[in-house]
Amino acid sequence: MTATSPITQDVLTIPRKTDGEALPNLIGMTRDALSTALADIGTPERQVKMRLGQVWQWLYVKGVTEFDQMTNLSKDFRTLLSESFSLERPEIVTRQISTDGTRKYLLRIRGGHEVEAVYIPEEDRGTLCISSQVGCTLTCSFCHTGTQKLVRNLTPAEIVGQILIARDDLEEWGRAPGDKRNVSNIVLMGMGEPLYNTDNVRDAMKIAMDGDGIALSRRRITLSTSGVVPEIARAGEEIGCMLAISFHATTDEVRDKLVPINKKWNIEALIKACHDYPRLSNSERITFEYVMLKDVNDSDADARRLVKLIGGIPAKINLIPFNPWPGAPYERSTNARIKAFGDIVNKAGYASPVRTPRGEDIMAACGQLKSATERARKSRAQIAAETGTS
Ligand code: SAH
Ligand code: SF4
Repeated sequence: MTATSPITQDVLTIPRKTDGEALPNLIGMTRDALSTALADIGTPERQVKMRLGQVWQWLYVKGVTEFDQMTNLSKDFRTLLSESFSLERPEIVTRQISTDGTRKYLLRIRGGHEVEAVYIPEEDRGTLCISSQVGCTLTCSFCHTGTQKLVRNLTPAEIVGQILIARDDLEEWGRAPGDKRNVSNIVLMGMGEPLYNTDNVRDAMKIAMDGDGIALSRRRITLSTSGVVPEIARAGEEIGCMLAISFHATTDEVRDKLVPINKKWNIEALIKACHDYPRLSNSERITFEYVMLKDVNDSDADARRLVKLIGGIPAKINLIPFNPWPGAPYERSTNARIKAFGDIVNKAGYASPVRTPRGEDIMAACGQLKSATERARKSRAQIAAETGTS
């Protein structure tokens, strides 16, 4: 049974300047940007560094949501801050908790757009899967997000905001550095293609990695890309996170159909970018994600081609049983097929864990994320079509 506990909240009231323009959000500003912002409101130059440190601690160690909670700042300074800036988080529209403990958050951001974030608790870690865009411009044929029409890039504040929301919900603020963490890992595997929004993803991850704040190690952050080849090296250099590649096929013919960006950057170009990924080593391997689609990409020959293609790259292969969604044109490979495929990959010396689908009862599994407004719009359109009222 699905435990659903929608959190009802008032519609977010966005603080505005008197001329009606929204105030700049301090959340999501890099240290440099925040420093400039503090100087711009008249913070004396010799105090900027100290104030920056204090504000940063309030935002990312204590997780405050109001300037008034920043109690080591003078009242006047707090007033000045609140007149100049906002502390805006995404608004939680619903929170669903799966029977397996997975939590899915539907979040509303500026413009009434919606994105999803998913928290997956495991024995030894807690992974937060976050979105980088509303929808996705790419149209991988097995992915629900790819059928969503509406697309915009998320701002750094909206990306970091997903982490803040999860930490709020999991009551994770103000813990000592060595304490066990609920959100110990981040994966950029939610809605969107992170390397079509590289700058904002980078700024957001810099904030998440900052040692005086959320302090997640770069090795606990994994960015998954469908293969935006020219951006891959930049992700390594500017973020330094772990890389996952949505590989999914072993011939250009099949990959063109499953992951259409392959028509622009084919398997050969993608493999080359992987070989060149900065800091690649046996302790920092690339994860090759491979969605198991019945009779499409799951043969023994595919498995053998796969290990040949990635030869020489420190890698592990993550087999993802296809997660169906309403109207999806594919079926999941059988368990026996997935096992046979995994055995071939294993024998070639690669770890090939099968990703256990999590939160299936709340449509929280990989590739199932799609905003509720879009779903609602679709179903109204479908109803109209069925009843002939369109
Ligand atoms: N856009 C990025 C990151 C988000 S998708 C990317 O494509 O890599 C995260 C992972 O889920 C990708 O490997 C994607 O291919 C996979 N995925 C998408 N739809 C899926 C589905 N229906 N079942 C299983 N995995 C899916
Ligand atoms: Fe976009 Fe990734 Fe889905 Fe492809 S798999 S449509 S790149 S979110």
